Amino acid sequence: MSPNGLDAATFFEHAGGITYSDFILLPGHIDFSRDEVTLETNLTRNIRIKRPLVSSPMDTVTESKMAISMALLGGIGIIHYNNAPEEQVREVRRVKRFENGFITEPVILSPNHTIRDIDVLKETHGFSGIPITEDGTLNSRLVGIVTNRDIDFEQDRNKCLKEVMTTQLVTASSGISLSEGNKILKESKKGKLPLVDKQGRLVTLMSRTDLLKNEDFPYASKNKEKQLLVGAALSTREEDKERLAELAKAGVDVIVIDSSQGDSVFQINTIKYIKSKYPHIDVVGGNVVTAKQCKSLIDAGVDALRIGMGSGSICITQDTLSVGRAQGSAKVYAHIPVIADGGIAHIGHIVKALALGAGSVMMGGLIAGTSESPGDYFYEGGVRVKKYRGMASHEAMEKGGGKRYLSIEDHVKVAQGVTGTVVDKGSVIHLVQYLMQSLLHSFQELGFKNIQELHKGIYEGTLRFEKRSSSAQVEGGVHNLYSFKEPHLGVLRMGR
Ligand code: GDP
Ligand code: 5GP
Repeated sequence: MSPNGLDAATFFEHAGGITYSDFILLPGHIDFSRDEVTLETNLTRNIRIKRPLVSSPMDTVTESKMAISMALLGGIGIIHYNNAPEEQVREVRRVKRFENGFITEPVILSPNHTIRDIDVLKETHGFSGIPITEDGTLNSRLVGIVTNRDIDFEQDRNKCLKEVMTTQLVTASSGISLSEGNKILKESKKGKLPLVDKQGRLVTLMSRTDLLKNEDFPYASKNKEKQLLVGAALSTREEDKERLAELAKAGVDVIVIDSSQGDSVFQINTIKYIKSKYPHIDVVGGNVVTAKQCKSLIDAGVDALRIGMGSGSICITQDTLSVGRAQGSAKVYAHIPVIADGGIAHIGHIVKALALGAGSVMMGGLIAGTSESPGDYFYEGGVRVKKYRGMASHEAMEKGGGKRYLSIEDHVKVAQGVTGTVVDKGSVIHLVQYLMQSLLHSFQELGFKNIQELHKGIYEGTLRFEKRSSSAQVEGGVHNLYSFKEPHLGVLRMGR
């Protein structure tokens, strides 16, 4: 046994198919404080982000709400494509248009709508502070606002809003900053602050309930125009060229070609097409798990690789097709940025993925079940859960998925994923902040100040690895308890 563990090359030469749980990183020497650790990384050749986190293009993980939060936190979200092109484009636009603290697409009614219309909105959206414009659309003249206080004692729900709306309004000019808006909301003690242009047309809305949420996000991933960064998934199918054109128009920053086996002529042609037609958009190719597959895609011109096959928590590819690779062995030391995709089941797996050469990690299951993931909560056995499903589950394929698995035309569809549920994890904002804090700890324990240094440690042999026997894994986890509460999520687990 080696007293100081093994360097990466020696360790992996004889490791076989290993997972994140099968190895441990040995501590290094600490000569810096934790606030000196930075987590900036290259998502792709040309896109740098401050946090190495990507949300997966799955229909139970990433739509605009998730992508906005991921970008605010310094990562990025990839909008799924299990929808019509115009729906995917709409989600991309929502992210690009997002301005923290401003409701850019407020629900609006006209003076001729009725109180009953507000009741319906309240039921579906949960809010009742509705601005009223001349013709009930955005960019039309603001004429009033209706809040609960205007209508809660009103018996006649068929009354027109023009009869009950408040017309003495506190408004502000649409050019103001977030902090100026917050100040006006605090001082005026109003619930809503409509922002209007010089002609008095409604441009956006601010809400008092958001005051506490209007945090500053110093790590936010933004482009030169200060818009949040966003990615979109795309298939290699011919008709997706039109989808791509619309995504490009909407300002998408990165395209992720979504395929379970990326080393195909279809993908190579798609990469070449995107790189020649839209050179300003970065392309992530994949998925790949061998050096040979990587080479095909690098030669075709990709800007990053997405690595993983069959390791996702909802995945049954390895059982069904017997093709894939254990995620710990799949990392390839490519000379372009690598996104480790699938199997990030615990906080600690993130640092392990980075220690294997990944520049960032893609998460599905870990962030599914947050309030920002698509879908509604429901109860299963007394526990509040949300649905989380594989994009190649029968259910997702029925909705139009399966493009990733080249099975769209098949008469009999073979599922490569399952449908399941995950527990309510609260807001992804708090979850990711917790993940990032623990990642800073990991880096300090390892004695590396940033991802570049960690990667250097792989090649120079200063990052040390050791195999964990199955009993070492039991010892390293919670053991000999009847039950325990998981930190952060507070979920009760049965011990072992
Ligand atoms: P209300 O007073 O009944 O409108 O509801 P609250 O002010 O308690 O909650 C409004 C919440 O919904 C805030 O967090 C808003 O940011 C959010 N929201 C999102 N879209 C809209 C919208 O179009 N109109 C309004 N009024 N709120 C929105
Ligand atoms: P997780 O983070 O939940 O472990 O894994 C998420 C990843 O699993 C996704 O980013 C994607 O690569 C992969 N994935 C998503 N749906 C399916 C599916 O139905 N089958 C397979 N084989 N992989 C899937």
